[in-house]
Amino acid sequence: MFIDDVYSGGKRDASSGNTYPLLSEAIKSGLFHPNCKDSTSTYYEGITTLQPVTEEEQAEMERREQLEAKESYYKNEAKKNRRIAKYSLDADDKRTYSHRAEVFEQKAQNAEKALANSGESGIIKVRGEGMYRKSKQGKIEPMPKKQFHRLEKSFRRRGGIIQHNPATDDYLSTKHAEGITYDSKTILLKQNPGRASVFEELIHAHQYRTGKNDGSYLSRLNSEIDAQRKLLRHSTLFQLTQQEIEQTKSALKSYKNELEEYYKKGGK
Ligand SMILES: [Zn+2]
Repeated sequence: MFIDDVYSGGKRDASSGNTYPLLSEAIKSGLFHPNCKDSTSTYYEGITTLQPVTEEEQAEMERREQLEAKESYYKNEAKKNRRIAKYSLDADDKRTYSHRAEVFEQKAQNAEKALANSGESGIIKVRGEGMYRKSKQGKIEPMPKKQFHRLEKSFRRRGGIIQHNPATDDYLSTKHAEGITYDSKTILLKQNPGRASVFEELIHAHQYRTGKNDGSYLSRLNSEIDAQRKLLRHSTLFQLTQQEIEQTKSALKSYKNELEEYYKKGGK
């Protein structure tokens, strides 16, 4: 907990027993890490809650699921017709099935486009504290779309939502973040996220789910350390780029330093 003297003009007030450090001091002492960072919004102790998915988010999720089902149906039909056309001996059949394949391909493309634009309404709600992955300099190699969709699907099956659309991009830019995890069910990511950020945010969601992260400063810091270690341990499995590995290593170092500082100051 710290007093937000930077953003909301709070002052240290000894008479009220307010002995929390000032946010400006916290910033100076490196509260904002190279990798993830703490929210710059004021932290209100005890208010951090794990909120369930809202009705709007639920509806959005269902809409996306329907679009995904349509897309894969059209893709299958396109493939099927392409195959039949290929093995048809009759020229008329070849033409008919090729045409059908084209129609389905077009439909699949339209569904894909609709999917990419879904969530345009940008349901963004900041709930308490989130786990931030700070945006990086330079180009990030995006995770292949297929892999991302698979991970997103399995996250959604457990009731989670990964929001990634133009509005989310804008929001993340204002937070200088590549990704934010608010709780066990809510992740915001850039539209073409790198592997490290996707896996890191999924790890954070898991930490919230298992109670490892209760939203307190210390558990968030420990969660960051734990997440960086996991990323490094599984860097081959996660196919992290050398750049991502280096960034993760430096983040781990900085979080460990911060934890050390925390204990040096007597755990406050
Ligand atoms: Zn993190």
